[in-house]
Amino acid sequence: MATADEPEPILRGQDVVREYHTGGQTVRALDGVDFAIRPAEFVAVVGPSGSGKSTLLNLLGLLDVPTSGRVELGGEDVSTFDQGQRTRTRKRDVGFIFQSYYLIPTLTALENVEVPRLLDRTPVETRERATALLERVGLGDRLDHAPDELSGGQKQRVATARALINDPNLLLADEPTGNLDRDTGDSILDLFDDLRTEQDVAVVTVTHDEYVADAADRVVRLIDGEVRG
Ligand code: ADP
Ligand code: MG
Repeated sequence: MATADEPEPILRGQDVVREYHTGGQTVRALDGVDFAIRPAEFVAVVGPSGSGKSTLLNLLGLLDVPTSGRVELGGEDVSTFDQGQRTRTRKRDVGFIFQSYYLIPTLTALENVEVPRLLDRTPVETRERATALLERVGLGDRLDHAPDELSGGQKQRVATARALINDPNLLLADEPTGNLDRDTGDSILDLFDDLRTEQDVAVVTVTHDEYVADAADRVVRLIDGEVRG
């Protein structure tokens, strides 16, 4: 049972295996991983290249389902969800900051942040929220800049604002400070902190940065698809 100190997990995984089949070969990227992500916690995922970090993040973000084992959201096994259900759930609950940002080059910073809401037919509210988020990440003076007119750190912050447009309760980030100088990295960590304390957002981040892992509540170490230590 959950106690006051330990709220029910947002997401839980049991004996999660993910295999990839390519060119007649099978790669077991995750080999029986257990996890529980609770509201407002900050989890750092570390491990060498190829250890399964991005695979794990994709499963947490419902971008993927396990080959075997169970990923549970609100007590429901997500592998029983159809594609539409997964997409809706992801859109409602999860924000994803991809390693390479995936900003659309022909759109402005503001429009990029609005993208996840383009089909919502609430253009005025969407614009207000996107503007507020970009101001919050310190880009209020860059709304109309195209991605190639922004620095790496600024692109990162646009991607962060976009991940927050639907008010997620789980924010996933693949190396969010990877290409950033320390000051910009610190400002991203401050933002994560605010989201956790003000809105109970859980943050799971893959990182190579020791100082990011130091700031986390919990560090998950992956080696060859297994959690160690
Ligand atoms: P990390 O993010 O820790 O570098 P990944 O999760 O990307 O690790 O990859 C784990 C393992 O799975 C690696 O051996 C990688 O080559 C393999 N892998 C990842 N994605 C795919 C894919 N789409 N198809 C085949 N193999 C993959
Ligand atoms: Mg990776």
